[in-house]
Amino acid sequence: DEDLALLSGDGVDEDGTGSSAPLPVLAVVGRPNVGKSTLVNRILGRREAVVEDKPGVTRDRVSYPAEWAGRRFTLVDTGGWEVDVAGIEARVAEQAEVAISLADAVLFVVDATVGPTATDERVVRLLRKSGKPVVLCANKVDGPRVEADATELWSLGLGEPHPVSALHGRGTGDLLDAAMDALPTVSKHGAAIPEGGPRRVALVGRPNVGKSSLLNKVLGEERVVVDSVAGTTRDPVDEIVELKGRPWVFVDTAGIRRRVHQTSGADFYASLRTQAAIEKAEVAVVLVDASVKITEQDTRVISQVIEAGRALVVAYNKWDLMDEDRRPFLEREIEQDLVQVQWAPRVNFSAKTGWHTDRLVPALERSLASWDTRIPTGKLNAFLGELVAAHPHPLRGGKQPRILFATQASTRPPRFVVFATGFLEAGYRRYIERRLRETFGFEGTPISISVRVRE
Ligand code: GDP
Ligand code: GDP
Repeated sequence: DEDLALLSGDGVDEDGTGSSAPLPVLAVVGRPNVGKSTLVNRILGRREAVVEDKPGVTRDRVSYPAEWAGRRFTLVDTGGWEVDVAGIEARVAEQAEVAISLADAVLFVVDATVGPTATDERVVRLLRKSGKPVVLCANKVDGPRVEADATELWSLGLGEPHPVSALHGRGTGDLLDAAMDALPTVSKHGAAIPEGGPRRVALVGRPNVGKSSLLNKVLGEERVVVDSVAGTTRDPVDEIVELKGRPWVFVDTAGIRRRVHQTSGADFYASLRTQAAIEKAEVAVVLVDASVKITEQDTRVISQVIEAGRALVVAYNKWDLMDEDRRPFLEREIEQDLVQVQWAPRVNFSAKTGWHTDRLVPALERSLASWDTRIPTGKLNAFLGELVAAHPHPLRGGKQPRILFATQASTRPPRFVVFATGFLEAGYRRYIERRLRETFGFEGTPISISVRVRE
């Protein structure tokens, strides 16, 4: 009898789960028009009407919580990409590469009625190189007449093609069973970050906020570590640099440097890149252009960091463009739009002039220290005892849930499990989070609280 709820900086998470391990990630990959969106909608149980017949449906997120046969996972949706026709092959491959890097297993969708194309072959090479488990979906097999087409896809060398009609639902159960077999129960992402190695930083934010300017500033003024550092898995897309006497890894810097994201569909692509960088990092610096109004895209990136459970620093860049008139507006915007991350350290700087960029590293260190924090069980329960005495859970229908015991299940980020005799209201869980932050700090890290009901 479990009643779970999770707080994640901005309140209770939507699906009300309290698992302390990162969910495995299944990415749906394939060229445009093979039926990825249709398949994703079917897996998520969304109405088919959501799929539009034109390519390039704008999406505001890339990953969704999903479930099959009692297994929970994160589904990365790469459907709806707007791909310009010139250079389509290269772009599909590049986008697939990012999605694959995010995934614990890949659902590769091919249009069985068309058969393998050159673009498909190109994605296959990427899949092989990645070494990730792949489940091959032969889509658009609407009836037995087309079954033979699916068989042809054995030629891709990815094993058994699973004949599916995403449109009608035919074969999707078997496909998902195969996907669950391929998917590890726990994501490898968390484990991929070695403890004790150099800290891993992602510079994220919407296009043109100054990510590459900041990177150049950081790399330009400090010693770039050329030799591989012990305990580091160095990706060619990462940069290692010594800052304040210790090495730091800036992840996915190739994505920042390669300015390919200026065409249509850029938002979605940027969002996927951002997600990939966040997953590979321990702490994310979300850059915001302080000289213009905070946008929804800015807050969305911040939410991505919180949902991924990474430490956070919010950096207001282009401070050299700030005039006194803008200042009060900015403060008000921060109060209104960034209320859910009041706990994040804030740095104001100019990546262009270098003004105050030296404040970045101390902020990173503070956030990471919080991310690593473990509160001993005795201390935690003493804190809870005082909290409950000062402000007990409100009575509801003559009942009052009692808090029995709490423990910190994990760090990076801190996750707490509270055992209680009944469900704790969202408001009360927020109160616990607020008091935890007041008492123990946790500056710069999301924290989660799940509640387990014991009768
Ligand atoms: P995406 O670009 O890969 O996300 O592809 P979509 O999901 O947008 O689908 C492209 C087109 O193929 C749409 O017109 C869908 O209705 C159609 N489609 C998708 N799945 C199937 C299927 O299983 N059978 C048939 N006949 N059409 C499908
Ligand atoms: P990215 O897309 O996030 O990597 O952004 P860039 O680093 O390419 O910067 C976008 C534009 O903003 C460029 O023209 C930069 O010169 C400019 N820029 C970046 N940081 C600053 C800053 O601190 N002050 C000013 N005035 N301009 C900046």
